Amino acid sequence: MKKYSAFALVKEAFNNHLGWGRAWRHAQPKKRYKVIIVGAGGHGLATAYYLGKNFGIRDVAVIEKGWLGGGNTGRNTTIIRSNYLQEESAAIYEKSRSLYETLSQELNYNIMFSPRGVMMLCQTEHELRAMKRTYYANRLFGVQTEMVSPMRMKEMIPIINTDGPRYPILGGLWQPRGGTARHDAVAWGYARAISSWGADIIENCEVTGIVREASKVASIQTTKGSIDCEKLCFVVAGSSSLLAELAGFRLPLESVALQALVSEPIKPVMDCVVMANTVHGYMSQSDKGEMVIGGGADGCNNYSQRGSFQHIEETVRALIETFPIISRLRQLRQWGGIVDMTGDRSPIISKTPVENIFLNCGWGTGGFKAIPGSGWATAELVAHGNPGKLAAPFSLARFVEGRMIDESIAAAVAH
Ligand SMILES: Cc1cc2nc3c(=O)[nH]c(=O)nc-3n(C[C@H](O)[C@H](O)[C@H](O)COP(=O)(O)OP(=O)(O)OC[C@H]3O[C@@H](n4cnc5c(N)ncnc54)[C@H](O)[C@@H]3O)c2cc1C
Repeated sequence: MKKYSAFALVKEAFNNHLGWGRAWRHAQPKKRYKVIIVGAGGHGLATAYYLGKNFGIRDVAVIEKGWLGGGNTGRNTTIIRSNYLQEESAAIYEKSRSLYETLSQELNYNIMFSPRGVMMLCQTEHELRAMKRTYYANRLFGVQTEMVSPMRMKEMIPIINTDGPRYPILGGLWQPRGGTARHDAVAWGYARAISSWGADIIENCEVTGIVREASKVASIQTTKGSIDCEKLCFVVAGSSSLLAELAGFRLPLESVALQALVSEPIKPVMDCVVMANTVHGYMSQSDKGEMVIGGGADGCNNYSQRGSFQHIEETVRALIETFPIISRLRQLRQWGGIVDMTGDRSPIISKTPVENIFLNCGWGTGGFKAIPGSGWATAELVAHGNPGKLAAPFSLARFVEGRMIDESIAAAVAH
């Protein structure tokens, strides 16, 4: 792998930039791998990366039915934060956020991590109480957040309307080291690193069948033929139930479309991320100047990567109350992704009823921020066959035992 550096850039400038290689190889499947990961989104690629880095397991294939990062990883609104209510969540999301801080240097790939701060608005008395509770919980778990007054908020975000009309702003929960990163770059950076170690990333290759021998999986069937494996890990977000069905078990998940939109670019007006959970919408400004807007999930289960029109209208209407200036903006693009929602709005990182199949899913509307921490924890699970401290609370067993990790306050619309 060629190291990206100022020196390399200057050297290539004298070579008409002809010496840059591909960031990752386009591999064809081998007959057998030690570990096969299904899904080349951020979580699958990060799992492969930490398997190689932390456990020396590099005989790995990442199988992707479309193109790398073309699932939710390349469709999200890139919010990164760790201000969750429950201790188990704070642990994994804060691990992830702290890995993001140095990920560009670690991968030698600029993921454009921008810790510009995330503001979660409180627009009802109930929400204010809930956010204060989260703030106290954050302090206990070592997550740096603070409560801000409406007056301070107006100073920080001049375009915000703190007076209503329906929901005046009563305060906010501020995480100064939350922010954003470039979503594709996260996938590309991990892909480049694992490819340089010899891991195979096989795109345009759909997993269509699972061949079991007794309680174990022996091989997978794909559109590029059959591949044997010692261990198999599903990391396919909204398609998790479909893969589980192929393997013969069911999952407590619903798949729904979640959508986002961006406006035409304008000059810088807002230098942090703002989330308005009561009116259901959130917004940040991209480096190009577009206002990046996200809303709620569809009310019905579906697998269409679009989302319904009514949500665009609801989201924009809600945000116009909070940011009146956006009423004059033209919207450029709208898209959707299929998110995998659990009942307690917490993820699943778990063993499964099939001995050598492992599972990472259920990140729902908020898994981009979790990519490094989730990859770290899933790699540990796959390498040892048992979860470590970070992953253990997120096992499938919690749905049987009733040990829910309820994050509906932190994740209702929020990402
Ligand atoms: C509109 C939107 C906004 C969001 N905003 C945020 C946000 O601001 N912050 C945040 O933290 N999170 C956000 N999220 C959630 C976040 O995007 C996801 O939780 C995260 O990207 C999931 O990553 P993943 O790697 O698990 O899944 P994905 O990136 O979806 O990757 C799964 C891959 O599996 C592949 N696959 C599926 N079936 C098969 C098969 N049979 N064979 C082979 N490959 C298969 C798919 O093609 C896909 O590429 C948002 C999501 C959406 C849709």
